[in-house]
This record gives sequence, structure tokens and C-alpha cells, in this order.
Amino acid sequence: MYKNVILPYQYDALEPFIDAKTVNIHYNKHYLGYLDKLNKLLDANNYNYKYSKEELINHLDELPLDIRDDVLYNLGGVLNHELYFYSMSNRKINVPIGTLRNKIIEQYGNYDNFKNKFIEKANQLVGSGYTFLVLDKEKNLQIINTSNQETPYLYGFIPILALDLWEHAYYLQYQNRRYEYIINFFEIIDFDNINKNYEKALNQIQKNNL
Ligand code: MN
Repeated sequence: MYKNVILPYQYDALEPFIDAKTVNIHYNKHYLGYLDKLNKLLDANNYNYKYSKEELINHLDELPLDIRDDVLYNLGGVLNHELYFYSMSNRKINVPIGTLRNKIIEQYGNYDNFKNKFIEKANQLVGSGYTFLVLDKEKNLQIINTSNQETPYLYGFIPILALDLWEHAYYLQYQNRRYEYIINFFEIIDFDNINKNYEKALNQIQKNNL
């Protein structure tokens, strides 16, 4: 079985920007729901869990044809939520640090430009999905949207920051005010975690290019 990640903070840690009830339901019902469905599907097909969750995306062809879509959907749901929860905290490290900070300045000029580009992209998403900051194969940052539970790994990107834009991520507190939720996300981004993701992704790409 694939194991769940522990929520790295209390349910109310993200208040007032995301309320405790939303975090509780999001983690326990939505995230753990995807994980449960994924494990049940794989168990029913005698999968031996030899790949990490990220690796499995590139080995779906080893699974029976008729379950691949379902596995991919739920696997995406698991990976996207794990990154989303890890993207935030109440540690107030909500401006870029470390090597990621330098990369953001190199590509976007300054943090405000980056932030505005991210907000603009998030505003463009229609329906359910995510806005991601990803690293591409040339080791450059890109801000992309994906629909539903599509994972950026599918397109050869390594996601390092995720904003969940499904209504369940904000509707209890914000109702139709999605823009406000997007703006407030920047108050609770944990750039220490994102910098770690960035450095890990850089190493991964280096290894892949060898
Ligand atoms: Mn979600």
C-alpha cells in the first residue's frame, strides 16, 4: 500500500486564510479518499508497489489497460494534494529564499512579477484543477495550469508548488470569491519547503540528463 503523508500542521494553522473545517475535510475526505481508491485499485490487480508514486506515472503501461485511467486519476489526486498541503504552513516563510529566490529573480525580475504571473495564471483556470510552479527539463521554472487531477509529471515537468483550485479547497469559506482565496494563498506559502522541492527537482533533472 502507498502510505499517506501526515498533514504537516494543525487543521487551524492556516487560519484566517483557510479555515480549519476546510483543511480537515480536504485532508481527511478528499486526499485520503484518493489514496484509498488508488490502493484498492492496485491491490485488486495484485500490484506489488515496486515503484514510488512518482515513478508509477511512467510505468502505467505495466498495468491492465482498463484500469490505467482510473489509476492515473487517483494517483494524480494523491500527488497533487500532497504537494498542495506541503506548499503551505503558518511558519511565515512566505517570500522566496535560497537558490529558488535567485532563480525567480533571474527569470521574473522580482518576486512581485512572479506573484502577478502566478495569480494571472490561476485566474485563467476554468473548472476544477490546479496552478503549479514546475521545473522543466531545461531546469527553468514554468507556471502552468492542469485540469482535474492531471499531474505535471505526465508532461515531463517536476511540480514544486501547487495551488488547489477545486471548489472544495475554498468554497466553505470563500464561496464564489476564488480570487480572494488565490491572493490569500500567498500569505501561507512555505517557501522553505518550496526551495527544498526546487533543489530536489534540480538534482532529479541532473540525474535524468546523465
Ligand atoms: Mn483538493
